[in-house]
Amino acid sequence: MSGRVILVGAGPGDPKLITVRGAEALAAADVVVFDRLVSPELLELARTDAMRVYVGKEPGRSATPQEKICELLVAHASAGRTVVRLKGGDPFVFGRGGEEALACARAGIPFEVVPGVSSAVAAPAYAGIPVTHRGVAQSFAVVTGSTAHGDEVDLARVATATDTLVVLMAAGKLERTCADLVAAGREAGDPAAIVQWAATPEQRTVIGTLETLPALARAARIGPPATLVVGAVAALGHELAWVRGAAGDEALGIDAATIDPAASDPDHVTAVPDPAAATRPAG
Ligand code: SAH
Repeated sequence: MSGRVILVGAGPGDPKLITVRGAEALAAADVVVFDRLVSPELLELARTDAMRVYVGKEPGRSATPQEKICELLVAHASAGRTVVRLKGGDPFVFGRGGEEALACARAGIPFEVVPGVSSAVAAPAYAGIPVTHRGVAQSFAVVTGSTAHGDEVDLARVATATDTLVVLMAAGKLERTCADLVAAGREAGDPAAIVQWAATPEQRTVIGTLETLPALARAARIGPPATLVVGAVAALGHELAWVRGAAGDEALGIDAATIDPAASDPDHVTAVPDPAAATRPAG
């Protein structure tokens, strides 16, 4: 029997955001190799006798090195197994899926890629922020706020080259990122929003400007995983916030449906944190 590797995007947050094809692949898996941001419910889609291998980062400990993950995928597939490599969001968007596909290609292992719903568009969407909007934003770009190796990220090249800028891995370096974008030519008054734990019951959103967001997010104790959206579309989140019962809303005792968008000021904190709700591992 010949083995293969299927790189599957799990989508962000809500396990129901996996694709039908991704769920089929999980059901067919002999081995599931999964990451930290993958919803535990998704593992239940695999057979009870399927091997489940966690390769994510534990708080305070380093992740399984990428080469080891590649070796693991190749080894199981070489032994004739169907291996699902389950990754948060989309496997090819800051997920190092390309490296795993290359390892398979070079080892002569057949592989497939099942794209996933990326947090790059889904986190904004869950905060009521369309990444493009007629007359407001004709383009968007996705960048990272930090890298696995702590390499410097050059935001200057892209800062003003796009209408909407989506920054992943943004929570740890929010102040620096916002300052760099202003230094690179974006307006300090540009609307900016950060969305933490999108598509989960712990979802929280803070909307401000490049100038005000870092302090607002700090006050709201926004941490990872969080996605930053910069550009005029971010302000639409005041009017289009549609997720009800987000943890922050409960903490405020607000029924999201009763919020009057017209009353929102630009620095409005859409959801104030409930620290007790942040029970998931940080990272
Ligand atoms: N491949 C993934 C991205 C991996 S990088 C994708 O396509 O979504 C991890 C980053 O994704 C996090 O630092 C955060 O910026 C973002 N992210 C993942 N899950 C998220 C969530 N539920 N809410 C907000 N941002 C999320």
